[in-house]
Amino acid sequence: MDMQISQIEPWFDDTEKQAIAEYLGSGGWLTEHKKTGEFEELLAAYLGVNHCVAVSNCTTALFCALVAHGIGPGDEVICPDYTFIASATAISWTGAKPVFVDIGLSNLCLDLDLAEQAISPYTKAIMLVSLNGRSPDMHRAVELCETYGLVLIEDAAQSLGSKFGGKFLGTFGDVGCFSFSARKIITMGQGGLIVTNDDEIADRIHKLKNFGRPFPGANMHESVGYNFKITDLQAVIGTEQFKKLLYRISHKKGMYDLYRGLLADVDEITFIDTDVREITPWMVDILVPDPIALREYLKSRGIGTRPMYEAIHNQPAYANPVNHDYYFPNSAYVAEHGLWLPSSSFLKYHQIWQICEEIRRFYKGK
Ligand SMILES: *Cc1c(COP(=O)(O)O)cnc(C)c1O
Repeated sequence: MDMQISQIEPWFDDTEKQAIAEYLGSGGWLTEHKKTGEFEELLAAYLGVNHCVAVSNCTTALFCALVAHGIGPGDEVICPDYTFIASATAISWTGAKPVFVDIGLSNLCLDLDLAEQAISPYTKAIMLVSLNGRSPDMHRAVELCETYGLVLIEDAAQSLGSKFGGKFLGTFGDVGCFSFSARKIITMGQGGLIVTNDDEIADRIHKLKNFGRPFPGANMHESVGYNFKITDLQAVIGTEQFKKLLYRISHKKGMYDLYRGLLADVDEITFIDTDVREITPWMVDILVPDPIALREYLKSRGIGTRPMYEAIHNQPAYANPVNHDYYFPNSAYVAEHGLWLPSSSFLKYHQIWQICEEIRRFYKGK
């Protein structure tokens, strides 16, 4: 069999090309303007929130969300020990200290019991990462933050379209942040989105992303701000990608179900509990005894996979002598055993069937 399947790739077609050609044909400033506004409105309507602010990426989105709440030096923010590193670096960037907490193995997200134990007098916020569209009990997370007077920031970079109890992830917290980087379910190459229902926070975020001025072009800068704008070119692509979101959501769910069904009797493989009526697994993630061995075998068959993230406490950027695997057993376990299988939205079912045949051959020798 001659396959070349990557672990994940962005996907666009003639509709993006046409939309870009039309936009360029109509003149315009290229940078953030009307198209960005339209994109923000589309997403606000879809998610059912009052404010959507597009920014350069999800890392800057998280940074803005924290800074808009006055979080900075001397503060602590609770963060899962298992996530893409940007959740943590956004906290560090503000000068606050990320306090890492282990995840639960049932959803690979922040363990809320441990999070509660980690709250100190300096804690100002919880960074809740809905990894791969999964989440802990979001009502409990909201309640926990209310009880202790903490800000709830949702890093929903991987969760556009995923829900908890019928409500979109990213819309439970004081602020939710999404990513449109090249690997995410829809992309504009780079891009982020901040959502909130709080008028004042939205206003602060608008200023933060635009040099601290009250409106584009103003000469008075009311606060220290940055340039985290996207361009209308990205918004044009984002709008076309958004039109494909519903299809991708249903296809990703179908893909996940098919993988899970075809590999159900392979004892070495563990799937995380996933209710696809609510969760859209953006990546097909499995836990296996030796992910590198499976990865090497699949690579020899032309099939791309990727080891899952390293635990944050083992990242050179954050490692310190106290941050030992002993304190984060679940995070360490997932880092050691996690593998992402091919997950591009354009994969066909027959390709998944072939991939699963190879995985079965690896484990069952047949
Ligand atoms: C992708 C991702 C980010 C960072 O998003 P960028 O848009 O690349 O800055 C942050 N957190 C999580 C969980 C992610 O998956």
